[in-house]
Amino acid sequence: MTITPDFLESLKLARKNNPSQKTEIKIRDITLGGGEKIVMAGPCAVESEEQLVRTAWEVKKAGATVLRGGAFKPRSSPYSFQGLGKKGLEILRRASREVGLATVTEVIDTRDVELVSRYVDILQLGSRNMQNFQLLQEVGKTGKPVLLKRGMSATIEEWLLAAEYIMKEGNHQVILCERGIRTFEPLTRNTLDLNAVALVKNISHLPVVVDPSHGTGVKELVLPMGKAALTVGADGLIIEVHIDPDCALADGKQSLTPGEFREFMAEINVLKEFWGRSLNSLSI
Ligand code: PEP
Ligand code: MN
Repeated sequence: MTITPDFLESLKLARKNNPSQKTEIKIRDITLGGGEKIVMAGPCAVESEEQLVRTAWEVKKAGATVLRGGAFKPRSSPYSFQGLGKKGLEILRRASREVGLATVTEVIDTRDVELVSRYVDILQLGSRNMQNFQLLQEVGKTGKPVLLKRGMSATIEEWLLAAEYIMKEGNHQVILCERGIRTFEPLTRNTLDLNAVALVKNISHLPVVVDPSHGTGVKELVLPMGKAALTVGADGLIIEVHIDPDCALADGKQSLTPGEFREFMAEINVLKEFWGRSLNSLSI
């Protein structure tokens, strides 16, 4: 399939109507999609208050502006840690107030949308729920920014139509998140699709964030792929960081230590000026 007028026509709310149109999303004192690269960081799952507060201080000192942490975890196995639920949300809010960071967490059930909205700044809609149309509609009724992860087997068209479901309900604050797709390659957890980032930046005005942690599943690949993602036009990154990855209850193998995250941010900062000039200079 190529990009046809019919395809663009189907994206009633998400498509760009002129080359310079862009949606800027304000989250506290941060603007996503306005040119500045935003880094969201934190553990895969909220495990305890101590774990989250310590991580929050570390990522803030390194330059992240949004704290991530799952309270409701959609795990592949029912025997894996499922998250702390409401207690996890309370911990997230306390960490956010103490450290002074905005927050993002996943909501996996329509019945929890109202609850989760009271605790965090950004609602995350996960890869496994990208085509849960009732959940899309429910987050579309909130006034909260939504980080919409691409389904692991979703086409770019399906991903953008999922964004339309949210926007059609009146919530236009959608952040698209590329987190890797399933391919035949077994050495990485997923294949990070940077084609999708460059393509979506050209046809949609919505901000795009990339998750190289889930996109690769390998912590050594997080920095190179994070740099690549920002270079092709992503507006920000979401990175898993754990104070003790070997003991993490979820996704330890792809989590950076605080020290590794500091080095990551130092390298990202060196490239900032280059991205400022190169951002979105391509067009299809
Ligand atoms: C996560 O962010 O921890 C997560 C479960 O992500 P995804 O939905 O991309 O698998
Ligand atoms: Mn994870």
